[in-house]
Order: sequence, then C-alpha cells, then structure tokens
Amino acid sequence: MAKKVTTKKAPAKKAPAKAAPKIAPKAAAKVRFKNSGHDIATRTIHVGGEPDPVTGAIMPPIYQTSTYVQSAPGVHKGYEYTRSHNPTRTRLEECLASLEQAKHCVVTASGLSAEMLLMHYLPAGSNIICGDDVYGGTYRLFTTIFQDMHNFKFIDTTNAKAVEKAVKEFKPAMIWLETPTNPLLKITDIVAVSEIAKKAKALVVVDNTFMSPYFQNPLVLGADFVLHSMTKYLNGHSDAVGGCIMMNDDEARKKLFTLHNSIGPCHSPFDSWLVLRGLKTLAVRMEAHAKNAMIIAEYLENHPKVERVVYPGLKSHPQYEIAEKQMLGFGGMITFFLKGDIKKSNKFLSTVKLFALAESLGGVESLIEHPAIMTHASVPKKVRESIGLTDNLIRLSVGIEHVQDLIEDLEEAFKAV
Ligand SMILES: *Cc1c(COP(=O)(O)O)cnc(C)c1O
Repeated sequence: MAKKVTTKKAPAKKAPAKAAPKIAPKAAAKVRFKNSGHDIATRTIHVGGEPDPVTGAIMPPIYQTSTYVQSAPGVHKGYEYTRSHNPTRTRLEECLASLEQAKHCVVTASGLSAEMLLMHYLPAGSNIICGDDVYGGTYRLFTTIFQDMHNFKFIDTTNAKAVEKAVKEFKPAMIWLETPTNPLLKITDIVAVSEIAKKAKALVVVDNTFMSPYFQNPLVLGADFVLHSMTKYLNGHSDAVGGCIMMNDDEARKKLFTLHNSIGPCHSPFDSWLVLRGLKTLAVRMEAHAKNAMIIAEYLENHPKVERVVYPGLKSHPQYEIAEKQMLGFGGMITFFLKGDIKKSNKFLSTVKLFALAESLGGVESLIEHPAIMTHASVPKKVRESIGLTDNLIRLSVGIEHVQDLIEDLEEAFKAV
C-alpha cells in the first residue's frame, strides 16, 4: 500500500489580486502577465504565451526561418538572423526568466553549451571553485576542455566552512554549485555560499536542473546566475535538448548575449517551441514527480535489500534541514545503494520493465541508471569512489506514472537479486 504522502510546503500562494490596470487592449497582453504577481503555475502558461498578434493563434508560431527581410538596409523589426534572435526563442526566454524570477534569460542549444558560455564569460586564467559531485558532463567540460583556460578546485560545497577556507586560499572569480548534486543529491546552502562569495567578489552559479524553477529559485537566494539543462524537467518530455542561463544583471546579459551570438550555440525554433509547450505543464508535472518520489523513497528506505536511500525529502538526508529551508519541494530524483555488488546492480537494472534503463532524467517517464557505468563514466574510478559514487549506487528519475505500478516494477527487480 502506498503510504500517505507528506509533501511539504505548498508553493508560494499568489499575491491577492490587484485591481486590473486600465490599459489599451493591445498592450494588455504584455502588461497583464509581466510582473503581475501571478503564481508560477500561471506564469508557465501565460508569460511568453500571448496569442499571435497577426492571427490570434493561441499557440505561438514556430518561426522556422534563418533570416528576416529588411525594408531598407539596417531597418528591421528587431530580428536579423536566427543565430542572434528568433521570435519563438524570445518567447521562451521571457517565460523562463519569469519562472526564475529573473530579469533576463539566454537560451542555448544544450545545457553544456550554456556552461561553455559561462566559462568564456570569465577572463582566461580565472580561478573557479566547483562542487565535487557535479554532473559528469560538467566535470568533463571543466577538466578536459577548459582546464587550460581556467584553474579549477573541486570541493565539498555542502560544508560552508570548507567553502570559506577555499575562497580565502584560492580567491575564485566564480563558485559553481549544483544543488542537489547528481547523483549523490548533496545539498548546498545557497544563501550561505552566496554570502561568502559576495564578500570575496566571486560570482555564484547554480545549476538548478534537478529542482526546476518550480521548487527552487537560486537568484532569490543570492546567486548571480542560474543554469538549467532544459533537456530535463523544463521540457519534461524527453524530446528536445536545450539549455538556459537566467540572471538579473544587465551587463552580464549583454556579455552573455554577445558570447552566444559570436560562438553560436543557438536553440532551434522548433525545439524552443517544444520547450514552450512542455513548460505549460511544469507545475503539475513537478507536483506529480515529487509526490511519487516521496512514496518510492519511503518504500526503498524500508526495503531489506536496500543499504541506504538518498532523497532530500527523507529526514535521514544529511542536509534535510537545508532542503526544507531553500526548496519548495523535494523533486523527483532518488539515489539508493543496493545491498551487494556490481553483479546485483546489473541484475536489478536489467530486470525492471517500466523504469527504462537510460541516461538523462526529468521526463514524464521513469528512468533508471547506473552512474558509475553510464552518466559518470567520465569521472575517474578513484574520484568516483572518493566521493561515494560506488558500484552499488542506482539512480532513479521518478516519472509521473501511477506510483503503485512503479513500486511493483521495483519489487520484481528486488526479487530477482
Ligand atoms: C543533463 C545535465 C546537464 C547537461 O545538459 P545537456 O542539455 O545534456 O547538455 C548539466 N547539468 C545537469 C545537472 C544535468 O542533469
């Protein structure tokens, strides 16, 4: 039987409705949804979702075009070339900025290309402190592509004292956080690290992919940049790749836009449209992911064949209190350690049927994976073991199927090992 779910704090209630400002109908669409105090569930649907002004189409057109006709040389409607700007992408950027309560958003071709832009944002030779348990691709990007350009120091950012000490010694220009981390779901206190960073004039970047803006807003907690792989929860349907960076600083936006335009990792209009469509259900999806994940985490925690479960919503999580404080929900990712070795892990992973054995996460369908062999194979074994990423560690991306079906699927796999 499914246990009663103890989902925590409801997402912030929308502010009491203000009297509608009297404005001309044409301008209404924009003003109505910008800074309107609407709940995030409303903003996912309406910001950037204004009807097409030409036809009234309720869904945004896919501007599948590379260029735009000018009426005289240099005279255009704000769009010249799709690498620089595209109206479908503009809508997506407006929506995403609003979801993270940010002023600006730059959408990119993938999460990793967004990370690349932030690496080029810093002058060559910069010092960067990075969490020691980040996404495998991030680790690879920093240690094999940018290691000649910048100096990286990987530390356990969950320990604010260690961060303070490292900041004093290393004098970083940037602190790179992922919270919760992938796959160990370690949680860093964003407020505490941002305060340390501010004093040392270091920029804070938070990779917020695991939480989505629905459960965590790092800019509000003091970060300078928020980054997402849109491939995961933002799009939510495992059918597009993309990335984005949100920020409040105008100069930073200008510089990132120039980098984006000059380097060129641009998101295709069709993929921007897909993410806009996926975003409309972000609120219901995240609620469902979190509800299912909480039930499954409790099921796993009580299972005799499980050594340990890591889920931010469990009281046993080492940083449960920070999670409670800075997150509005606990998300859909669970990590657990099977009792046994790599053979048993392999058996488990090849027995599940509903949970698809695949990399990636954040889609409506449940996925299961083995980080040591799959997503984190690019992290050397010695490094993996030093941070606790062992061979019996299994990661679940809990989807929004009926939770009882998911539990029965896991139970069958437990019987097989
Ligand atoms: C997937 C992922 C990335 C990379 O994003 P892509 O869209 O695959 O390039 C970065 N960070 C985290 C936490 C991720 O899960």
